[in-house]
Amino acid sequence: MKNSGTATIVKHTGSHYLLSELPLWDPFPAVIRGKLRLSGVKTTNPVAVGDRVEYSFDPKKDDMATISRILPRTNGIIRRSTNLSRESHILAANLDRVFLIVTMILPETKLAFVDRFLLTCEAYGVHPVILINKMDLYEEDCLKEQVEWFEGIYRGAGYRTIEISARRGTGIEEVRELCRDSVSLFSGASGVGKSSLLKALDPSLNPKIGEISVSHLQGKHTTTFYEMHPLSSGGFVIDTPGIRGFGLVDISTEELSTYFPEMMRVMDSCRFKPCTHTHEPGCAVKQAVDEGLISAERYNSYLGMLEEETKYR
Ligand code: GDP
Ligand code: ZN
Repeated sequence: MKNSGTATIVKHTGSHYLLSELPLWDPFPAVIRGKLRLSGVKTTNPVAVGDRVEYSFDPKKDDMATISRILPRTNGIIRRSTNLSRESHILAANLDRVFLIVTMILPETKLAFVDRFLLTCEAYGVHPVILINKMDLYEEDCLKEQVEWFEGIYRGAGYRTIEISARRGTGIEEVRELCRDSVSLFSGASGVGKSSLLKALDPSLNPKIGEISVSHLQGKHTTTFYEMHPLSSGGFVIDTPGIRGFGLVDISTEELSTYFPEMMRVMDSCRFKPCTHTHEPGCAVKQAVDEGLISAERYNSYLGMLEEETKYR
């Protein structure tokens, strides 16, 4: 056993952490002694699954490593504890990929939900891939059309979409390939088949996966800890309870459109800066909507969010 090194947090149990020197999977327990804070970030927990840390072993307590330093993050999914407090809670860090699982029926995933999720991820610095699950159920023409319509909107916005069926195994190899050599987070509304997909990716995954229950009460706040699992085909996955667990992001009205990749592409040509892309003359975003280059659905989502944001300010 080494005396010190750099490792990734793969689990947080409340009292201690499990670390592993990824891509090696050999988790060992570690604790944080004393105060350890990322400068400038006030959080109820200083580290999260995915964080890269430096650790060392104390010769007197050689069963537990001590986390001595948190390395800078490339990104992080954060949840604000309440709207009033500035406290936030880091759910996961350093994600290579985020997958959003959606379904056309049983249940129908609403566009507003998809857009809110995508926006949140973009704000946190990750560009998600959309997995359309239960493809085996969309044999009817109207459902086939619905898939095409959905893909048109999101591919047009710059997102990769993959048609899959966790039940039939369709598209699973493609997802497995994307997971190899990376840390991927899976999210989706309840019932879309997240646990089925994770089990299809790797049947040896813990049967408990998908049933997020690793939560405990900490003061008045319920804290959910995510956990990383190794895939036998390579890579690591983090399962999440979905966007509701993420909560609101603090985005200003000016920033909002920068998290819509398709608006980001054209907004440089808006006559006024900043431009809210609502009433301003010479707005390149509105022109792109008129020309069908930006989907009306996405633009309407943007307007809805803009209104929501403005209401609270
Ligand atoms: P989760 O809540 O997202 O984890 O969803 P589950 O994996 O528990 O799946 C919810 C339901 O959808 C279960 O009855 C699954 O059998 C079903 N399901 C999952 N994937 C598919 C699929 O690809 N096709 C069909 N037809 N059903 C699926
Ligand atoms: Zn504009």
